Amino acid sequence: MTSTDTGVRTAVVTGAARGIGAAVAARLAADGFAVAAVDLEEAATLDTVSAIRAQGQPALGLGLDVSDADAVEAGVARVVEQLGPPTVLVNNAGITRDNLLFKMSVDDWDQVMNVHLRGSFLMSRAVQKHMVDARWGRIVNLSSVSALGNRGQANYAAAKAGLQGFTRTLAIELGPFGITANAIAPGFIATAMTEATAARVGVDWEEFQQQAAARIPVRRVGHPADVAQVVAFFVDERSSFVNGQILYLTGGPNI
Ligand code: NAP
Repeated sequence: MTSTDTGVRTAVVTGAARGIGAAVAARLAADGFAVAAVDLEEAATLDTVSAIRAQGQPALGLGLDVSDADAVEAGVARVVEQLGPPTVLVNNAGITRDNLLFKMSVDDWDQVMNVHLRGSFLMSRAVQKHMVDARWGRIVNLSSVSALGNRGQANYAAAKAGLQGFTRTLAIELGPFGITANAIAPGFIATAMTEATAARVGVDWEEFQQQAAARIPVRRVGHPADVAQVVAFFVDERSSFVNGQILYLTGGPNI
């Protein structure tokens, strides 16, 4: 029996081993979804999978590279078989390879484009047919305030801006099938990714967060649960008229 037979709906979250993806997976489980947690290594998804099961929902950990077309097709086929056809997709997997333009290697550029853009394209293409069959679906892409330009992130900013155009286009193409596509563009969210940035610029992690919080109107940094809250809103049945939007999640109007 699949989760669909039991009335449970299935979500796929990429980059779900930790950080924002882990929080989104846990939130979707709390909201009643069976969840496939995708990350590079299946073993890395164990904690996330346990957290989903602890909420009484079916879970599947999948180790795959979202930029590998064959692996994505095979992974989504496993989701269908073990959890039922997915109707929610959160394209969250991401990496940074920061450097000033004159020092940025072709590999730094390609890796960032591959994970964010090619990965979101491949995952969305593999999952959309199940959403179209169901005449219902929700795609949420992780953009970033860096899409507006950020020193040292020419590759990442271009990828995150690209995801915004991708999101709007999916919204237009898939809207007639009851499928919405929206993006979240977070500012500072405290995760391993921002901790790595602190290390790169040589600032103590606690100090780095305090400095960021002082610049944010709500006087705190964001946390993965803040992003999960917005995902839950976009995914909600009642959000069917919210489509093609980019929500800047920054603790203030200043982005
Ligand atoms: P994170 O803690 O670094 O987690 C990202 C996860 O994605 C990691 O588990 C990573 O696996 C996985 N991943 C990387 N490449 C992958 C691939 N090719 N296939 C499958 N999984 C892959 O990052 P985060 O801070 O939670 O960020 C999540 C998303 O939000 C990213 O798209 C990021 O760009 C975006 N975002 C974050 C912030 C922020 O302030 N944190 C702000 C704006 C946007 P490994 O550990 O094995 O590398």
